[in-house]
Amino acid sequence: MSDVLAIAEHRRGELRDVSLEMVTAGRDLADQTGGDLHLAVISGDVDDYATQVNREGVDAIHTVEYGEEFNHDVYTQAIEQLYADLDPQYLLAPNSVNGMDYAPAVAEGLSLPLVTDAVDLEEDGGLTVTREQYGGKVETTIDVEEDHAAVTIRPAEWAQAEGDGDADIEAFDADIDESEIQSTVTGFEEVAGGDVDISEADFLISIGRGIDEEENITLIEALVEATDATLSSSRPIVDNGWLPANRQVGQSGKVVTPDVYIAIGISGAVQHVAGMKGADTIVAINTDPNAPIWDLADYGIEDDLFEVVPALIEEFGGD
Ligand code: FAD
Repeated sequence: MSDVLAIAEHRRGELRDVSLEMVTAGRDLADQTGGDLHLAVISGDVDDYATQVNREGVDAIHTVEYGEEFNHDVYTQAIEQLYADLDPQYLLAPNSVNGMDYAPAVAEGLSLPLVTDAVDLEEDGGLTVTREQYGGKVETTIDVEEDHAAVTIRPAEWAQAEGDGDADIEAFDADIDESEIQSTVTGFEEVAGGDVDISEADFLISIGRGIDEEENITLIEALVEATDATLSSSRPIVDNGWLPANRQVGQSGKVVTPDVYIAIGISGAVQHVAGMKGADTIVAINTDPNAPIWDLADYGIEDDLFEVVPALIEEFGGD
């Protein structure tokens, strides 16, 4: 068969954006193979998630209701069984913490080759997967020799599918072997500041080494509050322990796709850019006219942040 099966993702009661991005990637791939796009929604409030992923281009949605939270063994078993039942050509999963947890096990169980972290998929009688290295400076293409394959796709590389779909939603009766469940999620513990998910924010104000000292962050926090933005940062800020790791944007941090990204005192190193280049509008505040961030910025102020930020706070009505 030439169908595509994509696995939706949810976390803590919410469907993740990458699920809708996978609809776009999966539809595009299925158009190239001439097959159907199937989505799987596993565990949690499957009816609600299934309704949310029922976007234009989806041919069928299969739900497996088993527990509330992600579980490695449940996902692995359910996906293997669904794959055996549908016999698709390609399996897509998000290149997320969850996806990278179960995708290798599923690929191994189904004897499929696995290519991770795809940023593009081309199918012309064989699958070619594009990956990026060095923060996007180098691209690698991988020609998959086998007919069937599993691929994890990088979040925020494809647009989120829009438009209501009319796919059939069917419960799949997975036969979960409880004796094979070796781990269960017993609860969540937030890291400090962990209630914020910068990858879901529409408006990010991000600080870098130009902030100079930890105590200066309060100035940026005032701007964040005045503009109702979310605070994120480059890596040195996290390395210094000034903000928690979940605020870091970049290659070893999070990939973000806000409508607006204001980079304050950030030079625009490739590893940082890898995480924010998908922002719709990028604004830079930087004293260095040669900083690489200017190559990306749609707007900018080439000036001292300690002059610019107080003026912005005043403009936007903060204290
Ligand atoms: P800098 O490069 O030092 O830039 C500071 C900027 O502030 C400069 O452009 C300067 O002109 C400007 N500035 C200084 N004073 C002022 C002022 N008063 N007003 C206005 N502007 C001012 N980095 C990440 O961010 N995210 C990652 O995920 C990440 N992952 C990495 C993974 C690896 C394997 C490696 C090797 C590195 C990684 N890095 C990452 C680090 C990355 O290479 C850069 O070192 C880092 O992004 C630089 O952060 P910065 O822009 O805040 O600091």
